[in-house]
Amino acid sequence: MPAQGSCTVIVGCQWGDEGKGKIVDVLAEGVDIVARYQGGANAGHTVHVGDSQFVLHQIPSGILHAGKRCLLGNGVVLDIRQFFEEYDALVARGIDIEGRVGVSLRAQLLMPYHRMLDKAAEDSASTKIGTTGRGIGPAYEDKAGRRGVRVADLANPQRLEKLIEAAKEKVCDRLDQLGAGATSELDAAMDEALALGDRLLVLATDTGPEISAALRDGKRVLLEGAQGTALDLDHGTYPFVTSSNTTAGGAATGTGIGPTLIDAVVGVVKAYTTRVGEGPLPSAFEPEMDEHVRALGGEFGATTGRPRRCGWFDSVLSRHAAQVNGLTGLAVTKLDVLDTLSELQIVTAYRMPDGSVTHSFPADTWSLAGVEPVFETLPGWESPTGHVRHLKDLPANARVYLDRLEELTGADVQWISVGTKRSQIIPVD
Ligand code: GDP
Repeated sequence: MPAQGSCTVIVGCQWGDEGKGKIVDVLAEGVDIVARYQGGANAGHTVHVGDSQFVLHQIPSGILHAGKRCLLGNGVVLDIRQFFEEYDALVARGIDIEGRVGVSLRAQLLMPYHRMLDKAAEDSASTKIGTTGRGIGPAYEDKAGRRGVRVADLANPQRLEKLIEAAKEKVCDRLDQLGAGATSELDAAMDEALALGDRLLVLATDTGPEISAALRDGKRVLLEGAQGTALDLDHGTYPFVTSSNTTAGGAATGTGIGPTLIDAVVGVVKAYTTRVGEGPLPSAFEPEMDEHVRALGGEFGATTGRPRRCGWFDSVLSRHAAQVNGLTGLAVTKLDVLDTLSELQIVTAYRMPDGSVTHSFPADTWSLAGVEPVFETLPGWESPTGHVRHLKDLPANARVYLDRLEELTGADVQWISVGTKRSQIIPVD
């Protein structure tokens, strides 16, 4: 019998930081469960509620809505210490969180040694990936190498000890090779993390059966992606990617539900493009414009504070995202950031180094560094949009711009965000 509820995936369609946190926060109002399906504490969603700002790294932003259940799926790598720091900070700020957070028994634990390895490996790498140094890559390597520690292991102290001893031995060898010997700090950090194991087990659940049962009961579910399509391990700009599947397919494997339970996939795009970390950005602005838009959009990483590189909207990438995620709709964020520009450009194609023009996103990341973007120029609207709540009230040129994004991407715009506040959203019927 088909599920009665509804299940929507929210996925970033650029290089992350698209404002997914805001869109999830807005949509969470109408759902019962919000679940994260991949990534770790490298993701940082910033959500503004009233005058308060919340930066959430691991707990889904649905937590800011009373009564919603928030899950971390098996696809997530969980840093226990940081998770409880975030959990306790929410409690301290008066969020009633009791009984609302669940963590998959199958989720991998991100250990202090993963952080040490991440930093040491990035420091010594000849090709820098631009990692956040939070241990995400090494934790996923251990998962794929079948030597990871999962939440379920916390319930079996003997097995846990064996797993950790084996992992530490390997880590110490690797750190020695990288010239960054392990220290007594590692033992202290491990003790601190593992001391929280029992507390975590209280929150443990099997997310696949829980979500599937909720859908059968008619509940509504949001599956929240972290990072973006261009950072997907398989479909992004490899190797400048994260270590998990950020795209919509990852929502099924990363929570344990069947893909046929997913009803809709909403892609979040910024009205322009940003990228943090290393790797090519074909639609990059010239330096002066880069600085200007970075300041207008506050484009600095929520987790690391790193300045983000900025560029024009890239429809070659958004078309790729529409295809790989099977988008059923788009949420365009930060339209207001472009309010003062007199002219806007959109990348419609790439001219390859051999002179040919492509409308498809190349699989060979290295070729991206040599592409020349083909631009289309549109007039700006040069008036504020932050107060607009209905599509008909947007300036005509803003609508022309959005229509063109929609047309070039091949997915309907369903939501337009025009500011950081919850209320600054335009639903499109
Ligand atoms: P996420 O990881 O995709 O959730 O994105 P981030 O949280 O890193 O970045 C989004 C930032 O943009 C946050 O500070 C949001 O408050 C802000 N933001 C989201 N939507 C809008 C919008 O429509 N306009 C403006 N000006 N800021 C927005």
